Amino acid sequence: MYVKDTIAAISTAIGEGGIGIIRVSGPEAIEIVNKIFRSIRGKSLLEVDSYTAHYGHIVDSTEEIIDEVITLVMKSPKTYTTEDIVEINCHGGMVPLRKVLDLILKEGARLADPGEFTKRAFLNGRIDLAQAEAIIDLIRSQTETGLRVAMNQLEGGLSQKVGEIRQDLIKLLAHLEATIDFPEDEIEDFNSDELSDRIDGIAKKVEKLLRTSQKGKILKEGIETAIIGRPNVGKSSLLNALLREKRAIVTEIPGTTRDIIEEVINIDGIPVKIIDTAGIRDTEDIVEKIGVERSEEFLNRADLVLLVLDAHQGITAEDRKLMGSIKEKDAVIIANKLDLDSKLDFTEIEEILTDKPIVKTAAVENQGIDELEDVISNLVFSGEIKNEDQTLITNMRHKNALDRAYQMLLDVKKTFELDLPNDFITIDLRAALEAVGEITGDTIGEDIIDQIFADFCLGK
Ligand code: GDP
Ligand code: ZN
Repeated sequence: MYVKDTIAAISTAIGEGGIGIIRVSGPEAIEIVNKIFRSIRGKSLLEVDSYTAHYGHIVDSTEEIIDEVITLVMKSPKTYTTEDIVEINCHGGMVPLRKVLDLILKEGARLADPGEFTKRAFLNGRIDLAQAEAIIDLIRSQTETGLRVAMNQLEGGLSQKVGEIRQDLIKLLAHLEATIDFPEDEIEDFNSDELSDRIDGIAKKVEKLLRTSQKGKILKEGIETAIIGRPNVGKSSLLNALLREKRAIVTEIPGTTRDIIEEVINIDGIPVKIIDTAGIRDTEDIVEKIGVERSEEFLNRADLVLLVLDAHQGITAEDRKLMGSIKEKDAVIIANKLDLDSKLDFTEIEEILTDKPIVKTAAVENQGIDELEDVISNLVFSGEIKNEDQTLITNMRHKNALDRAYQMLLDVKKTFELDLPNDFITIDLRAALEAVGEITGDTIGEDIIDQIFADFCLGK
């Protein structure tokens, strides 16, 4: 367990804002804030009800006013951390926020670690580990679909499915152990078919969850996409057509050339991340701009390649070379400029790239863009039903745990077929149970917990 001290942090984003919030949580939260808060109506925070807001000033040790604030008092246990919480709504801006925070620390609170409020919610049993992790996913989600999946996980969708698997394992273990411990008792040994069926049933549930992980990863992390093609075939025009309706967010990628930004397009909830350089967006050509080596690097990294051809010009030697380089990739061929006469030999494309979809577009006229989006969506989800169930494995940690549990269950089956005693079976079943329990944090080491919360933002 942890030391139940009182922690504090600035919970709003760093920088200038309309308001900034300082959150204080722990047994002394109300007392500490009360020492530096002067209510306009002369009220002490020690006497107020839970979930009430109070207008007043924050003052320093000389009673000088630091900021005009509203404090919100929330009493244990119905709070984010389950502890007493006071939130101070200050005027935004780093100087007043820092000053107020310093005063709180001086009165005895400790600066919270990143994610420590959420960690307390977990340690105090309000949410499990999978739900806590959903909170980061929620904050970082890139599309509404990603947000819905995270919300489902926060509300316990995944925890419930994992809980069912754990219950099945526990019941089976209890029964097997009873037959081991009290062999001469009434407890009926499973007949072999029955035991085998039950293990299969559990393995199937694990496998079903595991199958969602590919889709989950895509929804959470998106797919890296490269638009390639000769100069002037229409790459920039295509990107602009896609961005017109579907731009999700623009992020700068740290550590790369100043000009490289990443555009994220939302296609059916899939964050399609297009590595964009000044080259694609402007009229210059990406291959020239970043060099052949870099573009090969992009190509290797990409999960999806969009190869643009100029239908008006027909296929050139360079196009053939590009086609040759993407044979092993997930790719869509885009026959662009189809508003002009076409010299494109579609049979030749199909001969070189037998299984790649071809989409006809006129990027400047916005034609074929919807079809392109459908093709991308189908390619990525390979015809899987969309949105039927929002419980998806989006987290590598969860996937690894399930993979291990699945492996253990296969081992159980093997042991069982060899007709070894029940003890051998229970050892593997226990291991499977532990692996599954790591997802919700029922069975997990403190170091891993620390690692998970260290990835959170400050003040969350
Ligand atoms: P990039 O070098 O591959 O990025 O090509 P751009 O998008 O810069 O386009 C090169 C030229 O082709 C520009 O003059 C565009 O207006 C034109 N262009 C692009 N797409 C089309 C199209 O679908 N039809 C026609 N007629 N012109 C296009
Ligand atoms: Zn361009």
